Amino acid sequence: MTSPVAISEPLEPGLYIVATPIGNLADLSPRAADILTRADVIAVEDSRVTAGLLRHIGVKRPMLPYHDHNAEGMRPGLIARMATEAVALVSDAGTPLISDPGYKLVRDARAAGRHVVTIPGPCAAVAALTLAGLPTDRFLFAGFLPSKAQARSSAIAEIATIRATLVLYESGPRLSACLAALAEGLGDRDAAVTREITKRYEEAVTGTLTHLAARYADAPPKGEIVIVVAPPGEAPPPDPQDADAALVEALTRLPVAKAAGEVAKAFGLDRKTLYARALAMKGE
Ligand code: SAM
Repeated sequence: MTSPVAISEPLEPGLYIVATPIGNLADLSPRAADILTRADVIAVEDSRVTAGLLRHIGVKRPMLPYHDHNAEGMRPGLIARMATEAVALVSDAGTPLISDPGYKLVRDARAAGRHVVTIPGPCAAVAALTLAGLPTDRFLFAGFLPSKAQARSSAIAEIATIRATLVLYESGPRLSACLAALAEGLGDRDAAVTREITKRYEEAVTGTLTHLAARYADAPPKGEIVIVVAPPGEAPPPDPQDADAALVEALTRLPVAKAAGEVAKAFGLDRKTLYARALAMKGE
């Protein structure tokens, strides 16, 4: 474990990625508070939000706006400042870069040889995983799905076969439609709707996707939401008789090696084993 940096020491010039609370101000880490106190300038999404956080720790620091609409223009100036100054990056809540601006700033800072440091902390996606009671050994963070129905269905189809728990950000008004689309595209898996994490009305409601879609259909919830969806169930092992039947059929159309390859791929079986089986079937 590294000992904390002495408060009086000036910060080394560079970029400091600082995670901030997602609701409960007590979740600001002492290290995050220390970096914000000593940064020469803080790049912020919304200065009103960050001013509130700085007030909470009794600090005033210069702020510069850095958000989706001005990032391109702001980046070169920030990269230049990092040569001689400590530039902190925060978002309105949680970990910068996670469904928030910042990755291009990190990329360009690295390309320019700047010192880049992370001060990790709250992140709604990870906090939701800890509440959901679903497998956490493999998870896919899919951010916000598109709001238009067709684009959303295509995005869901892309992730439908991934053998991992899915984590998605969503808003209250769109929650029910999103859950219904997930049920249609993924099958009726177990899921959790986590809401207002670390705040007074924090909750995690669990059930199948269709159950949850129905629950929220007439009562869109208020506040901030993360959906967590269980991985797909284990596929049943292929029935050897089905594979044999497919092989017999494939051999009517294809040479032995190609037939074995086609059936191996379709059933997820070993190609060499199927090749031997196909030769036996042909009496070769
Ligand atoms: N960078 C942030 C993070 O580390 O979680 C996420 C920023 S993203 C623009 C905002 C979304 O995160 C919200 O719409 C919601 O889906 C989720 N979120 C943020 N705070 C939350 C909270 N306290 N409870 C539940 N979800 C939250």
